[in-house]
Amino acid sequence: QLKTEIVAVGTELLLGQISNTNAQWLSQQLALFGVNVYHHTVVGDNLQRVKAIFNQAHARSDVIIVTGGLGPTDDDLTREAFQAMSGMDIVEHAPSMDKITAFFTKRGTNMTPNNRKQARVFSGASVLENHAGMAPGMIVTHEERIWVFLPGVPREMKHLASTSVFPYLQNLTGEKQVIKSMILKFIGIGESQLEHELYDLIQNQSNPTLAPLAQESGVVIRLTARHNSETEANSLLEQTKAQVEDRLGEYLFGVDEQTIEQQIIDLLKSSGKTIAAAESLTGGMFTDKLVSVSGASAACKGSIVCYDTDVKRNVLGISEEVLVEDGTVSEVCAEQMAEKVSGLLGSSYGISFTGVAGPMSIEDQQPGTVFVSIYDHMNKRSETKGYHLHGDRNSVRHRATIKGLEFLFN
Ligand code: ATP
Ligand code: MG
Repeated sequence: QLKTEIVAVGTELLLGQISNTNAQWLSQQLALFGVNVYHHTVVGDNLQRVKAIFNQAHARSDVIIVTGGLGPTDDDLTREAFQAMSGMDIVEHAPSMDKITAFFTKRGTNMTPNNRKQARVFSGASVLENHAGMAPGMIVTHEERIWVFLPGVPREMKHLASTSVFPYLQNLTGEKQVIKSMILKFIGIGESQLEHELYDLIQNQSNPTLAPLAQESGVVIRLTARHNSETEANSLLEQTKAQVEDRLGEYLFGVDEQTIEQQIIDLLKSSGKTIAAAESLTGGMFTDKLVSVSGASAACKGSIVCYDTDVKRNVLGISEEVLVEDGTVSEVCAEQMAEKVSGLLGSSYGISFTGVAGPMSIEDQQPGTVFVSIYDHMNKRSETKGYHLHGDRNSVRHRATIKGLEFLFN
């Protein structure tokens, strides 16, 4: 197994102006043919620090892929740093130099001397011709480490990596290991609870590994399996998925690209049921989610956006007594909204959303107070839940929508 490290050079990465998408992309691609990436290192445009990072990489890795700092300007000092570290000679690569001069001739502009820099390569390096830009890439062997130098511009980097570097590495390793991932998606369970339930697997299991991650619309776990057969890697994933399902099946709603709204539409369709919504604070967000699923028309009747109290009164027909005595942000109002909308739009289920998005309180209720009710027309039954959601106005609206999906699913 080759220990691989990716070093990204560029102060803009450290300043947070751009993300290190080069390392992300390289890791994803390398994983596909079983190359293990052990470190992502980021270093600014400073000769001493780049040199120090190169020394560190040299000490701990077999393959080091460096991106950035190959351009013409003074802050591009990847070459200088590697030369200082390795003592390797730098020579001018004639074909690259020709290409650079041709570029300026064609444009009819003067070539500034610093552009010559881009044609400078380590002596003995395999030079990777850059069809997408000026600075070529390089592969050099130094004290049994393989050093790969690629331009920082993502388009050029990807091009060189795919056409030259990956085939080179694949050839070298003769590795046939495949890495497969699967994402398990949960709703209605928090990240800490989920980690608690799966603690032993997360801690002790290494193939597949389990990595939980909290996302806006719930918690996900990424399973990653490796094997030299793709079929075996997939079956390892399936086995772990079954284990997780045993413990947390009731919260698991989907895999990979599947969404909760997709699952809800599927469930409604397969049972021949329909739904309609009465949306106050969510203003149509809930129905927007459902309608984003293709084929939603078979299960989703529509929505009444009853943001204003007059609309709750005149369109939905919420009783004066409820509006005045209980208030629009109340369990009773939510219940009536769900029932009324199911009747008006002729759906099997009605769901309602009422609450305080903020920042101001309404009817003495704090921002984040939300009621969601589901009415089941066939059984003439309703169920209502109250929530205290945190965040600013739009987070509360978004969270209320997710709560509705969760409520409906569970
Ligand atoms: P150039 O010849 O364009 O100067 P270079 O090899 O010197 O290329 P850099 O100057 O370090 O590369 O980066 C060029 C541009 O590529 C940056 O401005 C940035 O937008 C992008 N870039 C550099 N490194 C990364 C990275 N690790 N992830 C994503 N984008 C990057
Ligand atoms: Mg540059």
